[in-house]
Amino acid sequence: MQDFKEPSAALEETTEAGPASRPARVPLVYPCGEAPLAGTVKEIVPGVLWLRMPLPLSLSHINLWAVRDGEGWAIFDTGMHTPATVDAWQALVGEGAPLGDYGPSRVLVTHMHPDHVGMAGWLTRLHDCELWMTRQEYLNCRVLAADTDCQAPIEGVDFYRRAGWDEAALEHYQTRFGGFGMMISPLPQRYRRLRDGQVLRIGEHDWQVVVGAGHSPEHACFYCAELKLLISGDQVLPRISSNVSVFPTEPLADPMHDWLESLGKLRQQIPDDVLVLPAHDDPFNGLHARLNHLEGSHLRALDRLQALLGEGPKRAVDVFPALFARKIDSGVLSLATGESLANLNYLVERGRVVVNEDSDGVAWYVAASDFVEV
Ligand SMILES: [Zn+2]
Repeated sequence: MQDFKEPSAALEETTEAGPASRPARVPLVYPCGEAPLAGTVKEIVPGVLWLRMPLPLSLSHINLWAVRDGEGWAIFDTGMHTPATVDAWQALVGEGAPLGDYGPSRVLVTHMHPDHVGMAGWLTRLHDCELWMTRQEYLNCRVLAADTDCQAPIEGVDFYRRAGWDEAALEHYQTRFGGFGMMISPLPQRYRRLRDGQVLRIGEHDWQVVVGAGHSPEHACFYCAELKLLISGDQVLPRISSNVSVFPTEPLADPMHDWLESLGKLRQQIPDDVLVLPAHDDPFNGLHARLNHLEGSHLRALDRLQALLGEGPKRAVDVFPALFARKIDSGVLSLATGESLANLNYLVERGRVVVNEDSDGVAWYVAASDFVEV
């Protein structure tokens, strides 16, 4: 039931200029130089290639990674299903092309957002190989794709009305609903399951699956200790902070808790000396500094939000100034609302904020007067 006309790339953009996500003060190091053009590759270390695909969004690109896997290449993430991405993939595979005649040997997808999973069905069918995903990402993707051309559900309308949307915004939501399937090639009907902690032998090296959550339900990262590489998807990005949202299917979800917990887990499980290969922007060194910065900026945003709610009751749509520096227009309203609710639910869950619904079904949040920080 998610409103995914704006895919994840745009979600990340939502908070780019926000106070919660200024670039890290500890400078990160970007050692890989210029990004490859679409349809070309750049070698990161022997047997690991950087690919980049265009996106028809304000965020212009997604990075993909190819790891030597016997005669072929294991592909990590796939690009959005657009004519430009199809062209780029066609230039990558074939005699004399960067990925050779054999091309993809398997397709691994970090999470279900269309810029990551969009070409997975197309690639696995064309190259007769398997799709590897975590179970929640695979099944959620199938559910969202099944909403294509469906009418917006009443639960979705109620959810956004409760957040404070006006009639025009609710109307807009209903006309845009069900766009997710338009951005992806249909998934194959079976897949190989990725699990947290699992070790995959890919070519000459072992890659460990490290699952995070908050941005999406069961996001896979891939860590190779021998090569000191981390394919991070959207779980860690160097310059923008990933969107963390509540959606109408689970209105009381607490994804901010999952997100903060995942930042800690990555810091604990992955050493600082890796080269991070993120889905957006450039490969970087400085993983722990980035994780620390992200955690600190989220915690500060939560404190700002609580202080704002100390001034009197507010709706989800009233708290944007505490969380985002940019103006929230209709194009990013659902993303900003989802992220505001992630922050509000986090505070409600911990007794820092209380919520009451008025007779119109709109939720009003106010700081708990008796809350004492311990
Ligand atoms: Zn994403």
